[in-house]
Amino acid sequence: MKSVIIIVMAFGLLVPTAVYGVEGYWINNYGKQLNNNPTVCFLQPSDSRINEQRWNEWFSDMTTALNTWESVLNQSDTGFWKINIVNVPLQKISLLNPSTCDVTVKFTDESNPTHPDWLGWFVAGTGKISIVYSNYEYCGKEFLSNSLIMVDRYCFGDDIERSKRMASVLQHEFGHALGMGHYVSDNANLTQQWYDGIDTPSIMAFQHPDEELKNITQIDVTLIHEIYGEWGFGNKIDSIPVFNEPYVPEPVAEVLEIIQVNVIEHLEVIEMISGQLPDELYKKGIIIEVSIQKPDGIIEYEGIPVSKTFKSYGFPLSFDYLSQIGTHYVTLKADGEIFKQIIIIVSQEQPKVDSDKDIILDEINQKEIEVILKNISETQNNKKLTSVDNIDKHAESCFLFWCW
Ligand SMILES: [Zn+2]
Repeated sequence: MKSVIIIVMAFGLLVPTAVYGVEGYWINNYGKQLNNNPTVCFLQPSDSRINEQRWNEWFSDMTTALNTWESVLNQSDTGFWKINIVNVPLQKISLLNPSTCDVTVKFTDESNPTHPDWLGWFVAGTGKISIVYSNYEYCGKEFLSNSLIMVDRYCFGDDIERSKRMASVLQHEFGHALGMGHYVSDNANLTQQWYDGIDTPSIMAFQHPDEELKNITQIDVTLIHEIYGEWGFGNKIDSIPVFNEPYVPEPVAEVLEIIQVNVIEHLEVIEMISGQLPDELYKKGIIIEVSIQKPDGIIEYEGIPVSKTFKSYGFPLSFDYLSQIGTHYVTLKADGEIFKQIIIIVSQEQPKVDSDKDIILDEINQKEIEVILKNISETQNNKKLTSVDNIDKHAESCFLFWCW
């Protein structure tokens, strides 16, 4: 018996548990795997065919897959669901603190030793997802005796699989990483329809690996609520940085801005990041890649469209009392080239100090800002940003004294 899609190893019972729905039910859910907003680390494989450009494409598609999980969860209730996504390219693997990764996604060109036609798998209790990146080809039909349906059998070739299809496998595997089992039906006709992509009720149903047909559904959300409650995975308080050394942004070609943000309890501060894309980088349909590195080292990615009339872009960044204190690095890239970097220093309101101190501290602050600017200009001359430490110290001292 071989299952075509993706199966969780180390499942416990084989007895259907819980909730017979109208048409299907869950089997082998294994419950809460995460105690707070998960950090998911994507490791670039060591394979010369997976060059930087290809890796960036993979990472972007995988990010989209997990962002879909996040947005479906956030759309469905009043909770706050957050998935932190970390890119670990080859040159940073040695700097990674693996203990900060709640879920680690590895890409392999070798099939599963005991289940050679699995496209991906998750090993319960380890947080490890594997995705096979060798291209998979249709190799005939097979009868699944436990589900009584015909499924496609897959063989792996020497080429590289399309990353969108791998991202679709990831969406299913991530469901396992959250503690979900498979969603099945006793009705073989129905199970066959689901497999063929007709009204498939859950991302966790057995299904032909076609990303166009797969969806995270309300049934999935309901199960996540049963496992985690309705309010989200929970806030993460992590003192260990994801990487052992501060991330050094690539040299900044064009514009650098420093913004200071002071957050006050119960109020949200919105910073609009906007501007015009340099002419030489503009082309129709281009998406600006925005990376936001938080003080704890976690980097978030977003894609921002550019208006074709004015070549302008704009997006809001919001900060509140739960935002991380310290330096947030925002890097804007188009067509692979950095054209703007913004440093946002976030501090929290502190009790008011007397006015004499205010003046003195303002002077200190002014000096510190000058130090940052000087460092940055030196850095740009050196084509390397070396002032990360100084900027961090600056943010910390301002937080301690409260100066703005
Ligand atoms: Zn599965």
